Amino acid sequence: MSRVLAIVAALFLSGAGWAQEFSALARLDAEKSSLQSGWRGAVTLEVSLSQGVPWRVFHLDGPRRLVVDFREVDWGAAQPEDFGSVEGVGTVRFGGYRPGWSRMVLDLEAPLSLDSAEMEVPEGTGAATLRISLTPTTAEDFAANAGAPHDPRWDLPQPEDVGQAREDKPDWAPTVVVIDPGHGGIDPGAERDGTQEKELMLSFARELRDTLRRAGGFEVFMTRDEDSFVSLERRVAFAHQKNADVFISLHADSLSQGHAHGAAVYTLSAEATDAASALLAERHDRADILSGVDLSGADDEVTDVLLDLARLETEPRTATLADIMVGALREATGAVNKKPRREGAFSVLKAADVPSILIELGFMSSEGDLANLQDAGWRASMSAGIRDGLQAWVIEDKATRALVRQ
Ligand SMILES: [Zn+2]
Repeated sequence: MSRVLAIVAALFLSGAGWAQEFSALARLDAEKSSLQSGWRGAVTLEVSLSQGVPWRVFHLDGPRRLVVDFREVDWGAAQPEDFGSVEGVGTVRFGGYRPGWSRMVLDLEAPLSLDSAEMEVPEGTGAATLRISLTPTTAEDFAANAGAPHDPRWDLPQPEDVGQAREDKPDWAPTVVVIDPGHGGIDPGAERDGTQEKELMLSFARELRDTLRRAGGFEVFMTRDEDSFVSLERRVAFAHQKNADVFISLHADSLSQGHAHGAAVYTLSAEATDAASALLAERHDRADILSGVDLSGADDEVTDVLLDLARLETEPRTATLADIMVGALREATGAVNKKPRREGAFSVLKAADVPSILIELGFMSSEGDLANLQDAGWRASMSAGIRDGLQAWVIEDKATRALVRQ
């Protein structure tokens, strides 16, 4: 571990550092950045930036990844392909990780350990080059040295405790809606013709927020309001923190099988209703892991009896919400998916006491759906449909709960 820790020590600029805190972001120079093969399977990564920034590097196991964090970097129009491809390294990802910080993740197809890492900032230009050398090692050695060094300046904020009891709100209180725009930052979600799911979902979420605020009766929060990565766990914790009455995750994924098109509403279930739903849920969990979330220290004991009890009460309310929502979306947009009500093991829907649904507004793999998502008129109808669905559910839910209380 000592070798890794020595390399992890981040470089902080001294002296002129203060002025640079407020200056423009460091920009990636894609032309001067690369992946290169070396002697006996060694790999060198070079990242060229317009100025020096604090950084750190570490690796994670299961799957094997190399993670490089930076003070915020403007990646410009750079594509992963710009780094070139070398043996031993699979997909390259980069993007925002948390506000003010950026991340780069290399999928490692072989156990490659850190040999050296340094950032050169030659005097004069101010431009900086981060050079990371990797050498082949054994799987055991790789695993033994893997793990994120914990440092609050870099880490994702800790999700809040989810154990607190929820008070019953008076009937006139506004319905607290948490809108969750899927993906973000280093995790782009589905991509097609230069359009990314994360961007489409953020702009749709903002429109939906405005639609709900105009309708009245809703208090609306968003799990992200910028292009930044939010872990699935943190999205769920955010809903608790805001004492949400309902949680809506928004997606427009790609599904190549079966030419899926039209909106579909998903609820949580260990058993997926179909293979495509199982695949979608799995892919979202995987996107989280591949973005560099370290699950090695995660506590899996959350599902205790109390949570199961909460789920028992929430499940039928969620089912009603999903059913009503499908009807409202069909009414508002004229068409939904041919199997619009689906279930799957989506981690983002795991809040035990908050009715949570995931809406695939459409599928980016479908040309027609992508055109809809890019059409302001269609999006307005979709927002109105979600608003109508929520309003209808709130009435139904209050009536049912009043009956139960008697
Ligand atoms: Zn998605």
